[in-house]
Amino acid sequence: MKSYPRSMLKLIEELGKMPGIGQKSAERLANYIIQLPHDEAMQLAVAIRDVKKNINYCSICCNMGETDPCHICSDQSRDHKKVCVVEQPVDVFKIDKTGFYDGLYHVLFGHVNPLENVNPEDINIDKLVKRVEGGDIQEVIIATNPNLEGDITALCILERLEPLGVKVTQPARGMPSGSYLEYVSSAVIADAINGRKLMQKN
Ligand SMILES: [Zn+2]
Repeated sequence: MKSYPRSMLKLIEELGKMPGIGQKSAERLANYIIQLPHDEAMQLAVAIRDVKKNINYCSICCNMGETDPCHICSDQSRDHKKVCVVEQPVDVFKIDKTGFYDGLYHVLFGHVNPLENVNPEDINIDKLVKRVEGGDIQEVIIATNPNLEGDITALCILERLEPLGVKVTQPARGMPSGSYLEYVSSAVIADAINGRKLMQKN
């Protein structure tokens, strides 16, 4: 490390702060960047500058966007009576890509995790409650991740929303389509049995 010039060390240090990037990966990326033609390296720098300049957080749904309200909140063709609550912006992208959901979203930016001292007030739950109090939202779909932290978060949200009389739902949980029972974990099977529904012909 000591043999690198100072500016290279700085680049490695900055890259190493990124999630999932250890010291070795940071060095590899820095070496890749240093070998890029000048124009390509500048394109990367400009992309980082532009994303910080142009991307803001939507004052309604807290998601990232280039406008405020974001393109989803300002889309009048969507169902403004439904709000799907997710942990991260990537979840919005995933759900929207399916094309099966036409409502709005609310991004928490995290989940409640008592062990790491992340409390309900540290994520965007208050903003969701205010949104439900102030608007004509009829259904809140809590699509936090189906794990311990996601479930704790969902319960915290339910506690806050129940007194408001809004319908609160969760996506169905259980066996993934196309899977085989023998390869599915016990937790998933338990979820599927718990969430069983009346069989219908179509
Ligand atoms: Zn929005």
